[in-house]
Amino acid sequence: MKCECHGHIIADGVSYTDAMERHKNGVDKDYVRRALEKVRDCGISFYRDGGDKYLASAFAKTIALEYGIDYRTPIWITHKKGCYGGMYGRSFETMKDYHALVKEALKLGADFVKLTVTGMLDFENGGAVMGRPFAGAELREAVRIAKGEGLAVMAHVNGADYIKEALEAGVDSIEHGFWPDESVIGYFLDTGAVWVPTGVAVFNHIGQGRYEDRVMRRIHEVQLDVLLQAFEKGVLIACGSDAGANLVYQGTGTEEELALLLSMGIDPQRGNGEIIRRFKKQ
Ligand SMILES: [Zn+2]
Repeated sequence: MKCECHGHIIADGVSYTDAMERHKNGVDKDYVRRALEKVRDCGISFYRDGGDKYLASAFAKTIALEYGIDYRTPIWITHKKGCYGGMYGRSFETMKDYHALVKEALKLGADFVKLTVTGMLDFENGGAVMGRPFAGAELREAVRIAKGEGLAVMAHVNGADYIKEALEAGVDSIEHGFWPDESVIGYFLDTGAVWVPTGVAVFNHIGQGRYEDRVMRRIHEVQLDVLLQAFEKGVLIACGSDAGANLVYQGTGTEEELALLLSMGIDPQRGNGEIIRRFKKQ
């Protein structure tokens, strides 16, 4: 069974700006149907969306079974105001606002909560992790509230220290996890959380001339090194491509991520299975 454990059906891998324009005055339903066709045509029967702010994934969920796809979505990214997440999310200021956002997402059919702990990488600046992190007591409280609603937590995190902090806070999956080090492995093993490395979101840029290859290669190689050790020690690793991100296309992006993992000797089957099992409202 082929799985996409981290995609954004709203986006097309070409232009984030155009993707947002397309749906901002209401979901372009024909567009979403064509995207689901691409996913289905690649033999993908499970799709976990990372959420979006215009409800494209919420709509996709309502029709995905017509395409033979088990579709899960957090509806939107839930992020602290001033922290990363505005691309695909809704923000909150207080934990009370956060809880209200989670409840609102639940009404719209949310299967889990998506949180952002750190920002994205600045590919033009050596791959540094951007933005103010969402961490500490508030992160732990956010996870506790999600669990109280019967929801698993998908966490966008980069950087070894924040990966460990998110795992300690009890998140169920680490998304991206670029710039890890060996010390994260024990935390994954202790918590049983799944790592969704979205390797092609970086790897597909190598040789494309948009960013310095030296930077993209370094980000990829550091992650690969720790991923391999993690897999050998039993960490659950799942196949998610960040489909919709630049140069990661719906359907084929998933195939590329799977090929990349398999080329490293990593079989994502167990990790995928755990994502399917956990990311459903209890
Ligand atoms: Zn994403």
